[in-house]
Amino acid sequence: MAEIETHPKYSVIHFATAVELILKARLMREHWTLVVERASDVTLDDFLTGKAKTVSQADAIRRLKNACGENIPSDAATQFGKIAAHRNRMIHFFHEAGRKEADGTLTEEIVKELCLSWFHLDRLLAEWSDQFDAFQAEIASVDKKMKGLRTFLNVTFERLKPEIAKLKKAGTAFNVCAGCGFEAAAVEQVEGMLFEQRCQVCGLGETYLEIPCPAKCGTMLHIEAEYGSNRTCPTCEYVVTADDLAEVLDTEVYDPSDFHTPINCAYCSSLGTVVQHHEIFICTECLERDVGAPTCEWCNEAQIGGGDLEHSNYTGCEFCDGRAGWMKDD
Ligand SMILES: [Zn+2]
Ligand SMILES: [Zn+2]
Ligand SMILES: [Zn+2]
Ligand SMILES: [Zn+2]
Repeated sequence: MAEIETHPKYSVIHFATAVELILKARLMREHWTLVVERASDVTLDDFLTGKAKTVSQADAIRRLKNACGENIPSDAATQFGKIAAHRNRMIHFFHEAGRKEADGTLTEEIVKELCLSWFHLDRLLAEWSDQFDAFQAEIASVDKKMKGLRTFLNVTFERLKPEIAKLKKAGTAFNVCAGCGFEAAAVEQVEGMLFEQRCQVCGLGETYLEIPCPAKCGTMLHIEAEYGSNRTCPTCEYVVTADDLAEVLDTEVYDPSDFHTPINCAYCSSLGTVVQHHEIFICTECLERDVGAPTCEWCNEAQIGGGDLEHSNYTGCEFCDGRAGWMKDD
């Protein structure tokens, strides 16, 4: 952060390295061999003396998922990949930002990248608070400094102000962006209570549900449409359940004499958690959504997240092994 204006190149290089180290630190909490590229060839001594080659960031993210059950959201993985690519360019080639002093535009660009990366990293650190308990004070202090960086984006915001004012006048709503803190996230209604916003200043995008608090405290809740997102009402602290979500989101009209087929979710492997919300199908557990909910030709269960299930008679789906599995058993 201190290097942004004076040594922009090093600012990006150091920040990207820090991101990678934190991902590896989480892996190390599981076991040190997870950080090493080829664990079978390495002794603990090699590792401790720095002789072992460690995994790439992309592999670290894969191992976090496979070995630690930590699913890094794809937006976060993309952003971390972007800043890593940035760093590599700067290390290996001449790069614009390599000049000693940065001009205003360049600083803005770098700050944007850092703010976005920090947004995702900060969330992961909050999720991993049990892993990095001893560092809570340091993390809070970094967060404070990172938020201070946002002042660099004032210029961007000022530049966009007339455009934002115009859009506002035309009816577009703007939310305060969680990445940069400016009221610059243009809101678009996707379907019913499902909205999408994208920040004009830093580019952070988010899909979320807007529902009234089921505990009837009068608060309009903003729930990020992502697995494991925060579902606690900030006013009355009621925790929204999957059943509450089904209640408000389900727009399907049932014929009481008809048997209602439950719809499963292949994204999070949950049974019967999907409801129809106007033109889309949404899982009340992980909040993933699809435009259709096809039925598996083998087990006859409807689901989202399983693709078009075209050859499901043979291959089956997330929830069954199809004819192929049945023949194998025979
Ligand atoms: Zn923003
Ligand atoms: Zn409430
Ligand atoms: Zn789901
Ligand atoms: Zn099936």
